[in-house]
Amino acid sequence: MKDCLFCKIVKGEVPSYKIYEDENVYAFLDIANDVYGHTLVIPKKHYDNMIDCPDRTLGKIMASVRKIGNHFVNDCGFEGYNAFNNNGKSAEQAVMHLHFHIFPRKSGDGVKIIQDFGKQDKELEEIAKELYFEDEKADAIDYSKYAEECDVVYTDGACSGNPGKGGYGGIYIKPNGEAEEFSGGEDETTNNRMELMAVIVGLEKTAENAKVKVYSDSAYVVNAFNQNWLTNWKRNGWRTAGGSEVLNSDLWKELSTIVSARDVEFIKVKGHSDNILNNRCDQLATAYYK
Ligand SMILES: [Zn+2]
Repeated sequence: MKDCLFCKIVKGEVPSYKIYEDENVYAFLDIANDVYGHTLVIPKKHYDNMIDCPDRTLGKIMASVRKIGNHFVNDCGFEGYNAFNNNGKSAEQAVMHLHFHIFPRKSGDGVKIIQDFGKQDKELEEIAKELYFEDEKADAIDYSKYAEECDVVYTDGACSGNPGKGGYGGIYIKPNGEAEEFSGGEDETTNNRMELMAVIVGLEKTAENAKVKVYSDSAYVVNAFNQNWLTNWKRNGWRTAGGSEVLNSDLWKELSTIVSARDVEFIKVKGHSDNILNNRCDQLATAYYK
């Protein structure tokens, strides 16, 4: 963000005292210099706060917060640390770029972050009733409804930019209704590679010789099997009819080996429509880079 102070610090346009840096975060001393070692940990990519930061990114930031806090304890002679953050102006967030504060702590350091707020008029029971909620989990999908007489694998791949950061996701459903979601991704990849990875990882979950139905919205993947592209590529030594090298042949070879050890049927589904399982796969895939 153009006028964001912390974005400028990440870019080096505003000086700061760096404590740590990795692929995802930048950590520096708070300019207040109040508590000794008061550190701010910020994502390199701009998010206002936790309210708009995706789970996956937040997980990475938190892992770095812990790494830095643990460094204070393990290497710098501290006994513990506070890690906290403020989300929103009413919650005393001063700079609208997501950040975590770390206070390195020692007993008797005179710092006190828990205040005495007195007591609420309402009883806890009443407050809990007002605030309680249940997560609308995606696993509320009853996968057993989609079980068939053979193993079933739903897959999807996605990319932010092509090439770009990409992810794959899938659901493996056994005939008895048991189901397993899977996902993963790569930082520099293509949409087609992610579609292929989804099928590879999904099929690897099934036993050799198993009968499997693969539901994919990728014409690239489905046609390669159903229109014999793959057979022709193999016959031509992984060259296309035009003579050029087959793209993604590394993954095609891997997939081809897995498929030949099983009885696999590929079924094309319409992407991004009302196919609940395909939509869920898309969610799993995009979660990798969102
Ligand atoms: Zn920013």
